[in-house]
Amino acid sequence: MAAPEPRPAGPKIIRTVAQVRAITTAWAQNGDTIGVVPTMGALHEGHLSLVRLAKARTDRVIVTLFVNPKQFNRQADLASYPRTEDRDAQKLAALGVPILFCPSASEMYPEGFSTNVSVAGVSEGLCGAGRPGHFDGVATVVTKLLLSTMADFAFFGEKDFQQLMVVRRLVDDLNMATRIVGCPTVREPDGLALSSRNVKLTPDQRAVAPAMAEALRHAAAKIAKGANVPDSIDAARQAIVEAGYDNVEYLELRAEDNLQKLSAFTRPARLLAAAWLGDVRLIDNVPINDEPAQNAGQK
Ligand code: AMP
Repeated sequence: MAAPEPRPAGPKIIRTVAQVRAITTAWAQNGDTIGVVPTMGALHEGHLSLVRLAKARTDRVIVTLFVNPKQFNRQADLASYPRTEDRDAQKLAALGVPILFCPSASEMYPEGFSTNVSVAGVSEGLCGAGRPGHFDGVATVVTKLLLSTMADFAFFGEKDFQQLMVVRRLVDDLNMATRIVGCPTVREPDGLALSSRNVKLTPDQRAVAPAMAEALRHAAAKIAKGANVPDSIDAARQAIVEAGYDNVEYLELRAEDNLQKLSAFTRPARLLAAAWLGDVRLIDNVPINDEPAQNAGQK
């Protein structure tokens, strides 16, 4: 009988900024490009797709795993957020990731920490309305992670489209050298966007969950063909609730480049939504790919 395949060695787990700096400084001195994939762990194929892209695009990849308390506005959500560090490390081992940066909250925010990074404009409305302080928390931690790793490229999912826009704005505004790479949303075969929160769904909720993606796709197709935007949005909200969601927090058409609110499809756009199944909040978004119709919003 053949001997079992040896398990690939896991990534080296680094817990301090000083250690991560020492490693990335050596890499940079060696002329290697560095890619960082920031995550909050509970890794799934969506995260792993970012890692694969980072590996294809850069010489050295660091994945970060930090459940950032500053971006949770509900204590219960922070407390119940899935934490699976060992399993995450195994998944990264299979991809040959050399470094997993897992700082503690006190390493990232030591006593006396007083800085808040706040991005106006793109952080307003959508998730910014329902989760006060969330994007300040994101902007602050991303600034720290990019500066700590000195990454040439950072990989973020379009699944969190508003977050991607906040990070792009932040890096531009602060003249940070890291280039931001947006990566497409990975979905289950039934259309549900992969999310670490999906494990919290009961079987009944899981069966209902794909309805949001389906309603967004359907509305986007109608809008692309020139259907009235407010009517299409109303119909999509109704479809999501009728399918069994408890509440639609928002469902809006926004400009692709700056998230400006749109009431007609006059420029490249995205439909974005957040909705609740019990106490699980899911978000999703879809691009509207076709060129705006001449008579957009008139039907
Ligand atoms: P999180 O751990 O949820 O903070 O996500 C870490 C990164 O993975 C973020 O850039 C997310 O946008 C990205 N991500 C999460 N889910 C998906 C998905 N289904 N497809 C692609 N990227 C994702």
